[in-house]
Amino acid sequence: MPPAEARALDAAPTALLIGGEWLPARGGRLLPVEDPATGQVVAEVADASPEDAAAALEAAAGAQGAWAATAPRRRSEVLWTAYELMTARAEDLAMLMTIEMGKPLAESRAEVAYAAEFFRWFSEEAVRIAGDYRVAPGGANRVLLMRQPVGPCLLVTPWNFPAAMATRKLGPALAAGCTAVLKPAEQTPLSALAIARILTEAGLPRGVVNVITTSSPGEVTAPLFRDRRLRKLSFTGSTEVGSHLMAAASERVLRVSLELGGNAPFIVFADADLDTAVEGALLAKMRNAGEACTAANRFYVQAPVAREFAERLSAAMSKLPVGRGTEPDVKVGPLIDAAQRGKVVSLVDEAASRGARILSGGAAPAGPGYFYQPTVLADVPDGVGLSTTEIFGPVAPVWSFECDEEALAAANGTDYGLVSYVYTRDLGRAFRVAEALETGMVGLNRGIVSDPSAPFGGVKGSGIGREGGEAGIEEYLELKYVAIDKTW
Ligand code: NAP
Repeated sequence: MPPAEARALDAAPTALLIGGEWLPARGGRLLPVEDPATGQVVAEVADASPEDAAAALEAAAGAQGAWAATAPRRRSEVLWTAYELMTARAEDLAMLMTIEMGKPLAESRAEVAYAAEFFRWFSEEAVRIAGDYRVAPGGANRVLLMRQPVGPCLLVTPWNFPAAMATRKLGPALAAGCTAVLKPAEQTPLSALAIARILTEAGLPRGVVNVITTSSPGEVTAPLFRDRRLRKLSFTGSTEVGSHLMAAASERVLRVSLELGGNAPFIVFADADLDTAVEGALLAKMRNAGEACTAANRFYVQAPVAREFAERLSAAMSKLPVGRGTEPDVKVGPLIDAAQRGKVVSLVDEAASRGARILSGGAAPAGPGYFYQPTVLADVPDGVGLSTTEIFGPVAPVWSFECDEEALAAANGTDYGLVSYVYTRDLGRAFRVAEALETGMVGLNRGIVSDPSAPFGGVKGSGIGREGGEAGIEEYLELKYVAIDKTW
């Protein structure tokens, strides 16, 4: 193994973090971690049991009072130090992410920087948690408002952004004064464990963050939902699992934040700058090989430019080198596993069998790893799986439309509502369309919307709540109203 890969793997913890101790799972069970570019097992981490999860919540609940009472400035300093440590160790963290998740090193470096920014942003927010004091309209009473931490949280994250999805929850939770049990995805536990270690080195007290890695997420987390000490669930992942966990959380009326799946439309009007639109399409489609909730899933292009756009996108996508993310110049890594690649294969095959024209790609290369060629399809019939399903792969189906209303009806014709992309040089049209789109975010002549200082989140089946920006910390705060009788 090349030294840089060995160094990154050696530095990553593989045990559970509970109450400030790195512990094996009860019973000593281990969970293998695979490199999706080779299919080889590269590490083994502790495979937690329900008893380990209970111990993690016990530790979080035990630490809650002291952490909530810790001076905001101190909470801020811990987050700031964690930001600095992540930045200093960016190269090892990026390598670790590429090994366990597959994305090219350049994208892993960008994710580590993005992930660290959540610690920096929420370090700055920790000292700005405001209350309010008002004279009630009648004049006799006073209204005092205070914001307090929600309490111990369960944070569940997916594999596609192994570092950023963890820090986007940990940053605001810790800034608000909440403690947490973090459960990362089983395919990518190493990045989350490495970040947890950084937090402990940054001075986070014992028990404030606990991490359980497991191959049995349902069995291991179910008892936590019944425990009255758990106050909140923050989940990022599929709509299917999110809605199941929302039902579980409803039993004890837990606070919930849900960042779920997407089916983003990418709309190009005939007046758009096509160079910018193709560049944006590459970003919106190909970041993470299409395995992003924000990935452009459906391309709607106005008829006069539809053919040219599809051909230019196809030419650009077919030039992207595919390979193991550790290799220089690789732009497209493998998909996460055989199941995900199988899903992409069947979506493309179904569209092709129903008459879609494959302009480029359309197959999985031979050899080890879960690769799929960057693929563009034109003349795609309505109603195929590519239009109704979150593809999560490097596949761009292109449809054409005539007028704004047709584009909007197609864009909004889905149960998802995370993000949409619009390309136009007409300012009036830009605002009209942005207002009419049923999504939590709109990229206007931009193929990427993620920004730690902005509220990220969706509507409809894409979730509830926002992460990042000023809104992000509100998810971890309760508003308390104190009614004061004027006695003076
Ligand atoms: P997933 O299958 O829903 O899993 C997400 C997390 O939930 C993982 O940690 C998973 O653990 C855990 N989980 C699964 N079943 C569970 C259960 N019964 N109880 C408790 N936890 C459970 O999603 P994924 O495949 O990892 O991620 C891809 C999905 O995430 C896509 O739909 C994508 O759009 C969405 N996503 C959304 C955003 C956003 O901000 N809106 C961001 C990134 C990704 P295991 O790994 O052990 O299964």
